[in-house]
Amino acid sequence: METRRTKQQQSIREVLAEAGRPMSVQEVFDAALTSVPTIGLSTVYRTIRRLAEQGEIAAVAVPGQPDRYELADVAATHHHHFHCTECDRVFDVRGCVGGLDRMLPPGFKLRGHELTLSGVCGGCAAR
Ligand SMILES: [Zn+2]
Ligand SMILES: [Zn+2]
Repeated sequence: METRRTKQQQSIREVLAEAGRPMSVQEVFDAALTSVPTIGLSTVYRTIRRLAEQGEIAAVAVPGQPDRYELADVAATHHHHFHCTECDRVFDVRGCVGGLDRMLPPGFKLRGHELTLSGVCGGCAAR
């Protein structure tokens, strides 16, 4: 039997899968309303927190911005993000610059990196 909680988690996973880009709690809420018109913002907050604790979704940090969230299997593949400063949406970008260890002082070892590009997305640039 499917509980209400399971259904809420399922619809939020679907919203993120359909969007194909990291979303803020508010964006998930707006999108979830179309399939679950009775859902509340606090429920979306709680459900996202629970999914993150369960390791099903991952937080995407954007400097000076509220966290966005993406599915864990998307997060597991190395990629980077683009923040549009016009519409505030965050997109996945493929590929990686590489060679960042050349920036390190002698003797340092690179273990990882996060990169957030910013600018104007295609939709906003066309307006
Ligand atoms: Zn934009
Ligand atoms: Zn990279």
